[in-house]
Amino acid sequence: ILNSLGFKSDKFSRIFGKSEEILGFWKRIEKEREKLPFQIDGLVTAIDDNDLFKKAGVVGKAPRGAIAFKFTPEEATTIIKDVVLQVGRTGVITPIALLNPIKIGGVVVSRATLHNFDEIQRLGIKAGDTAVVGRAGDVIPEVRKVLKELRTGKEKSIKIPAQCPVCKTKIVKEPGETAYRCPNRNCPAIKKEKIYHFVGRAVFDIDGLGPKIIDRLLDQGLIQDAADLFDLKQGDLIPLPRFAEKSAENLAAAIQARKTIELPRFLMGLGIFRVGFESARDLAQHFGNIEAIEKASIDDLKKISGIGEKVAKSIYDWFRDEYNKIFFKKLMNRVAIKFYKKPPKKPIGKLAGKKFVITGILKRFSREQAKNKIIELGGKASENATQDVDYLVAGKEPGGKLEKAKKLGLKIINEREFLDLIG
Ligand SMILES: [Zn+2]
Repeated sequence: ILNSLGFKSDKFSRIFGKSEEILGFWKRIEKEREKLPFQIDGLVTAIDDNDLFKKAGVVGKAPRGAIAFKFTPEEATTIIKDVVLQVGRTGVITPIALLNPIKIGGVVVSRATLHNFDEIQRLGIKAGDTAVVGRAGDVIPEVRKVLKELRTGKEKSIKIPAQCPVCKTKIVKEPGETAYRCPNRNCPAIKKEKIYHFVGRAVFDIDGLGPKIIDRLLDQGLIQDAADLFDLKQGDLIPLPRFAEKSAENLAAAIQARKTIELPRFLMGLGIFRVGFESARDLAQHFGNIEAIEKASIDDLKKISGIGEKVAKSIYDWFRDEYNKIFFKKLMNRVAIKFYKKPPKKPIGKLAGKKFVITGILKRFSREQAKNKIIELGGKASENATQDVDYLVAGKEPGGKLEKAKKLGLKIINEREFLDLIG
């Protein structure tokens, strides 16, 4: 079908008659996967019959008619030459294993994140160890296991540092957190990482402004923070090594071109701890403008689903920190935030605002199907008979929920009445 509609489909895709054939094909591709011109982590199969596909039903979000066959992730053995520390933009210190370069899944890998010091302890990693390295989700290199039996006695244990490797400030660890952080907001490493993040693809997306140029701008005192980027003129850039008149002009123009920015990207650019792309988008959708977010209380922020206590507090604290206030004001004076249009609300369904609980066995639907139908029509499906439930749908052999609903005086309907309701 894809081909006849003009989509490119893979030449390996095919139709099978028996499940054994799929397994055979899967084994063959797994063997040959390194030779393929692209990287894959498995195969996807689907029933080639729409009626059968529907009959197979859905578990949660996953249709039973479509199944992914994953390959065993590839691993390789190499030596951990050393463990170095990397300071991130939030000050988090991440230990990184430097590896003897090794090919895993067709890519040469020389560094692998160790996540945190608990992980080093859990795996018992020492510098000089031989380790099994894989790629998380077949992408990000990670150390999976240490082969302790291969130790020579020369391996060195890895100590948790007392100081930031860059600014030498005493590092801290908050209760309940696994990460150690450099608390110095003037730490050169944090400053740099913040600006790298700021110009990155997901944030201000400034073309041609890579880490090397940022390092030079900082070294030469041309910028102190990300907001200063917008003051740079062509003439400031020409003296930089390897810059000519034209390239300086291009970069200055690229920076100015990003002065007008969408609200979610702007929020990401602030570098608020725990605020990633999804939270930024949710905040933008909920509040619509930056002023409302700036003024929001922790309770206001927590009203957004997906934003919990920790994230809400982090946002609230960020806007009330004296140092951040200065940066925020500086940035607001230099950029324009595009008017943020809230996406149109979903059309209101028949059951909008109504909350349902289903108990017992229904004839026409599985409970899952009935719930999906309710949600499709704008209603809510709940598991518990509580005071705010509008209808309890009682099927055959209803459970304790029916008793509870009676006690609470909820409206109880049978399957027939439910069908009338959903039309
Ligand atoms: Zn530091």
